[in-house]
Amino acid sequence: MRVEPNLYVIGSGKNGFDLTDPFDCNVYLFDVGDTYIVFDAGTGMGTDQILAVCQQDGLDPDQIDHLFVTHAHSDHGGGAAHLRERVSPTVYASAFTASILSTGDEEAVSLPAAKASGMYPKNYVYRPCPVDRVLEAGDVVEIGPFTVETIPTPGHSHDHTCYLVTGADRRYLISGDAIFFGGKIILQNTYDCNVPDTIASIQRLADFKFDALLAGHLNFSLKNGRRHIEAACAIIDRLGCPPSIQ
Ligand SMILES: [Zn+2]
Repeated sequence: MRVEPNLYVIGSGKNGFDLTDPFDCNVYLFDVGDTYIVFDAGTGMGTDQILAVCQQDGLDPDQIDHLFVTHAHSDHGGGAAHLRERVSPTVYASAFTASILSTGDEEAVSLPAAKASGMYPKNYVYRPCPVDRVLEAGDVVEIGPFTVETIPTPGHSHDHTCYLVTGADRRYLISGDAIFFGGKIILQNTYDCNVPDTIASIQRLADFKFDALLAGHLNFSLKNGRRHIEAACAIIDRLGCPPSIQ
């Protein structure tokens, strides 16, 4: 789904645009010339559909050379191994995320509990995915005329990272599950979901300037994306907690 001249949504599930597997997060692709940058990978159950969406949009899947993962949860990182096998991107992630991805640690992403609750199919398998480049806070990766900056944002999960993409005279915040349209968040009954860290991460994001908010679920926002951070901060400033989408 082409959104802007350089930006596509190539995966999205039932909490987004019903484009690919129902469990998929929003998967974003930037066309930066002769190469593509993808953010998050979906669950892996819809990888064929993601690649088909690319082809329908006139994109060559073999040009997916870069895959950045916001966090290891199954709906974001579970598909990394599948994409790596199909189109061999360089995989980037934080050290925390890399440790989970590379071992396929289902406990670390609370998958047994998610299966028991019916959130995920019982036969779903989290396949390990090697990570080619481990990112630290503030790392900036240059890819063609675009840059990708690493912003650690723990809270939704201990390993969560946002990315600031700059290119084509625009700035995009890839917010994963750290913040959503309307300033909402996801609080879950998982071992590493933490309200104070979630709030500190939102306050950290408020220091960055960007045009578009590209969140991991629900709608995205192409202009004035900071208004969603500001909506959350207005609640936080009153000692409240932004509403959770779940
Ligand atoms: Zn998540």
